[in-house]
Amino acid sequence: MDTPVLTIPAIVSAIGDRKLSAAELVTAFYKKIKAEDGEIHAYLTLCEDRALEQARNIDALASRGDTLPPLAGVPMGIKDVMVTRGIRTTAGSRILENFVPPYTCTAVERLEAAGAIVLGKLNCDEFAMGSSNENSAYGSVRNPRDKSRVPGGSSGGSAAAVAAGTAVATLGSDTGGSIRQPASFCGVVGLMPTYGRVSRYGLIAFASSLDHIGPLARTVEDAAILLSVIAGHDPMDSTSANVPVPDYRTELQKPVKGLRLGVPKEYFGEGLDSEVRSAVEAAIQKLAAQGTEIVPVSLPHTGYAIPTYYVIATAEASANLARYDGVRYGYRSKSAKTLAEMYRKTRDEAFGAEVKRRIILGTYALSSGYYDAYYLKAQKVRTLLARDFQQAFTKVDAVITPTAPTPAFKLGEKSDDPLAMYLADIYTVTADLAGIPGISVPCGQSTGGLPIGLQVLGRHFDESTVLRIANSIFP
Ligand code: GLN
Repeated sequence: MDTPVLTIPAIVSAIGDRKLSAAELVTAFYKKIKAEDGEIHAYLTLCEDRALEQARNIDALASRGDTLPPLAGVPMGIKDVMVTRGIRTTAGSRILENFVPPYTCTAVERLEAAGAIVLGKLNCDEFAMGSSNENSAYGSVRNPRDKSRVPGGSSGGSAAAVAAGTAVATLGSDTGGSIRQPASFCGVVGLMPTYGRVSRYGLIAFASSLDHIGPLARTVEDAAILLSVIAGHDPMDSTSANVPVPDYRTELQKPVKGLRLGVPKEYFGEGLDSEVRSAVEAAIQKLAAQGTEIVPVSLPHTGYAIPTYYVIATAEASANLARYDGVRYGYRSKSAKTLAEMYRKTRDEAFGAEVKRRIILGTYALSSGYYDAYYLKAQKVRTLLARDFQQAFTKVDAVITPTAPTPAFKLGEKSDDPLAMYLADIYTVTADLAGIPGISVPCGQSTGGLPIGLQVLGRHFDESTVLRIANSIFP
């Protein structure tokens, strides 16, 4: 059997009608992974026996004629920053090389309860810190659309697996753009829900006030179906919101006509690649042709977003990563003679360069003499950035921007220049800082055939509108 390019509804109904066997489908996906993923390197760990057993259970349900759950038999991959009981979880770091978690992340648990099948764990930048997947301790991922280029990051494996067809859909995490930017680079759909919409329980923490879990998929409809499954209150995450979850797939049926769409001038300035600009402008014309009203808006604090993000994210990371001390999890240095030396050597030997850079930056920003100048100041600017959006949303229903300033860049092109790399997130970090939902949807390609993504940002908890707009321009 070949792995056809199937959508979630097509898989579930074919399994329900006994035209497709979940076990055969899963076997075909592993065959494809083994044949093609060596070069792409999206997967870090496979869990074949477990997946086949789950698939057989789905087939048994189908043969009894039972109603199937909404993701019955859908082969998925999970970014390796979400813990999975009994399946190694590395966060792309040496420090967790042999870590087998004792529990499962809520979002993954909900997918499996809905019948999804986890094929394996996906490569990512170490602790989700990066924009190109080149910070993974296990090696880079190649962009399936052009193998000399990066897939984006940090959820590079999650985007590449969907683009390569080695998973039907995946979960990623987004702290500053890590779902949307790789989705844009690989030509797939990537959705970051509102902060608090999806539980973070079992997501290995990078920057807790910015971390979000969300789906990457081939179609907007698949992303909508996945969000309905993973969203909703979870008592295990105190920041998870108790807000009703709509059936997002039904919401997609509503027309976009009459919606007011804001186009912020700050996102179309210097640094924006001309082909990205034309593709996004063409998509905006398409939206206008469907009866939406295009309204110029301003988000005046946008220029401060990158420095604000890198102060807050590194400060939170320095606190979150203190737990990797050689005692509680994973790697422990073998050569240390005293306790203090053991802490030092463990962290020195098993954290990568970018993670160390961020711990140092974050510790500095939080130190007593500098706290007010950096961390406190950044928190104040974060409020201003959030207010920019609140202000815009009094006039418009959603904001439309490019997802990233350029298409996918070459492997190695920016890896020696952290500042250039940080600028890859210039259009995505604002939504994380404001806690609003955003999606990247393919809207065209460069003359060289590289995918270009359009970003739609919406009001808090209004993923429905964001999905609807994305769907209306989806090819
Ligand atoms: N590229 C950004 C960073 O390096 C965002 C990462 C993310 O969203 N996890 O921090």
